[in-house]
Amino acid sequence: MMTIFYEVHNGLYVNLTNKCPCNCTFCLRKTMESVGGSGPLWLDHSPSKEEVFAALDEQDLSKYEEVVFCGFGEPTEAFELLKETAAEIKSRSCVPIRLNTNGLGCLVNGRDIVPEMAGLIDTVSISLNTPDPEEYYNIVRPRFGRASHAEMLRFAAECAKVIPKVVLTTVDTTIPKEEEEKCRQICESLGVSYRIRPWEE
Ligand code: SF4
Repeated sequence: MMTIFYEVHNGLYVNLTNKCPCNCTFCLRKTMESVGGSGPLWLDHSPSKEEVFAALDEQDLSKYEEVVFCGFGEPTEAFELLKETAAEIKSRSCVPIRLNTNGLGCLVNGRDIVPEMAGLIDTVSISLNTPDPEEYYNIVRPRFGRASHAEMLRFAAECAKVIPKVVLTTVDTTIPKEEEEKCRQICESLGVSYRIRPWEE
């Protein structure tokens, strides 16, 4: 069974890919098959546009407060499909659309993808994880190396130019309060919001 859409709280989540350029030490995929009541989020193949749209036909978009591209992988690894799916959802409903991302989608796609998200994505939520680039490298273990932290921040700043809401997140209890304060300052300097999110999201 392929779980492309699944519910979390009042959101409809979208699982387009299991690919990711990172190998975070804390990645849920290491220990879990699913999230909340979802079916298994490991996909047996990368879904086609036809498969995603057929699964979308089964969803009642009016039930949800938002649609969230998330899943067991980095959504920008399937960027063309992400855009097509977001556009299709926009044509069917005015439900807001959020992208949860590691912020490395421009490196993943080898080009600046931010302008292509304008009008399709209402909120971009980016995992900051830590204010410290070396610590980031050690826990996120991105295949793009040590420049990844700076690229993630650059991506956030670019998103802030064209996306209505941009949020950088850390996870509650994973970094000391002083580091959360540094994160807050980073967000302020970039003109984006800061959110400390609970563990399970
Ligand atoms: S970026 Fe997300 S999907 Fe990728 S390894 Fe880290 S936690 Fe897992």
